[in-house]
Amino acid sequence: MKLRLLCFCLLVTWARAASAPNIVFIFSDDHAYQAISAYGDARKLLETPNIDRIAKTGMRFDRCLVPNSICGPARATVLTGTYNHINGFMNNSGSIRFDGAQTTFPKLLKKVGYQTAMVGKWHLGSDPTGFDFWQILIGQGNYYNPPMIRQGETIQNAGYVTDIITDVSLDWLAKRDKTKPFLLMCQHKAPHREWEPALRHLNADGDRVYPEPATLFDDYAGRGPAERGQDMTIEKTMTERDTKLIAPLRLTPEQRKVWDDYYEPRNAKFRAANLSGKDLVRWKYQRYMHDYLATVRSVDESVGRVLDYLEKEGLAENTIVIYASDQGFYLGEHGWFDKRWIFEESVRTPFLMRWPGVTKPGTASKDLVSNLDFAETFLDAAGVPIPSEMQGRSLRGVASGMKPADWRTGFYYHYYEYPQPHRVRPHYGLVTERYKLVRFYGVGDDYTELFDLQKDPQELRSVWGEPAYAATTAELEKELARQRKELKVPETIPPEWFGGANAGGGAGKKKKQAKQGEL
Ligand code: CA
Repeated sequence: MKLRLLCFCLLVTWARAASAPNIVFIFSDDHAYQAISAYGDARKLLETPNIDRIAKTGMRFDRCLVPNSICGPARATVLTGTYNHINGFMNNSGSIRFDGAQTTFPKLLKKVGYQTAMVGKWHLGSDPTGFDFWQILIGQGNYYNPPMIRQGETIQNAGYVTDIITDVSLDWLAKRDKTKPFLLMCQHKAPHREWEPALRHLNADGDRVYPEPATLFDDYAGRGPAERGQDMTIEKTMTERDTKLIAPLRLTPEQRKVWDDYYEPRNAKFRAANLSGKDLVRWKYQRYMHDYLATVRSVDESVGRVLDYLEKEGLAENTIVIYASDQGFYLGEHGWFDKRWIFEESVRTPFLMRWPGVTKPGTASKDLVSNLDFAETFLDAAGVPIPSEMQGRSLRGVASGMKPADWRTGFYYHYYEYPQPHRVRPHYGLVTERYKLVRFYGVGDDYTELFDLQKDPQELRSVWGEPAYAATTAELEKELARQRKELKVPETIPPEWFGGANAGGGAGKKKKQAKQGEL
């Protein structure tokens, strides 16, 4: 009897593994949806034909929200399907490391027979767990000739980071055990600061003048001290390394020559012009767009190579392909770069998914989904029960165009990191289809804001306290309190959650410049 049961269990496991879809999770860092042509930004900043292939053959998600809009915390959420107060990774200060002993979806997939690989940017302090193969950048990693750690061993690479991550990913796919389903997490550094392009993409736009966002010179009127007190403007915060007035360190002499041939004549012209005020901000914005968009070009090429491989190998029909970023990013809106805020350009991350048999080609969804739902979705796809501690939901219904009747109508957000690197005050809040309720706390006086996205899509004026919004505010407050309780958010946040040593910095002490590793 026991033997028959064992045989039956093995058969079920084998059958599940044999039919389970492969998962290719392509994840970039700080990629704004405004810089993906499938999202149709009014500025038409660039074409991303390969990322758009996923949109054309699958679903584009227009409202994919992140629980905490910075690198490490977003990655911890993707792996665990939980908020940061549960998975323990609240900030990027370096004072905390991801606890790799906790349950993650790659571990659960591995248990039912998946081969699992993680290649590229990891940024969680501890070594990856739950992967048959891993090769990661060191911390933030470097764009040029980056050293990496392959299963504990440091190795040197020559070339451009996005190309290397793609090569290693495709090499692993080619060498995998073809009798098993696979999970590949291909995680790019690009287009993270300092936006250093592949040398072949310098001047890919032929010195194009990029359209400016309407809010490039935002004065933050209509909002509070948090928005006015941040340190993330193109005007004041962007460094000479960001704007390529200083070259990066890791270029070989040959690479440096190509770099100098492009940047030096343009930098000389800039220095001679002696710009100031708005003209200087405009110049910096143009340089920022050139560099940022050029790094996206390499990511788009990488996506094309991975999609081509899946098609050539006959894998496309049984492989879920995702393209997403760890959060959104500002491309000059409100005068900013970076992320962190609950506001749209930051909290909304691009997310495109082709799930054969589930998504229909060329569809789009405005439902409130999140990277909190990714782990649950992959487990559902593989037929693995979703652990009760996970806080998101499988996207199968939403992705098929049949949103469950009880799908979320409000999404909880919580940002902690302060004061470094960008002095964005800790805040939490609720995002709904139309409104955004935000509470700033822990620094100076606490205060609340309310935005009506229907009337004010650029979030320029808080309407909190206005009598016309009294009933809406009361409803949102009630739902916010309900979600905080359901999600087990502590009433009092320990100061170390703001970033260890940084937490003691106080509002009055301003450090000169964020180090690369702090972002
Ligand atoms: Ca990021």
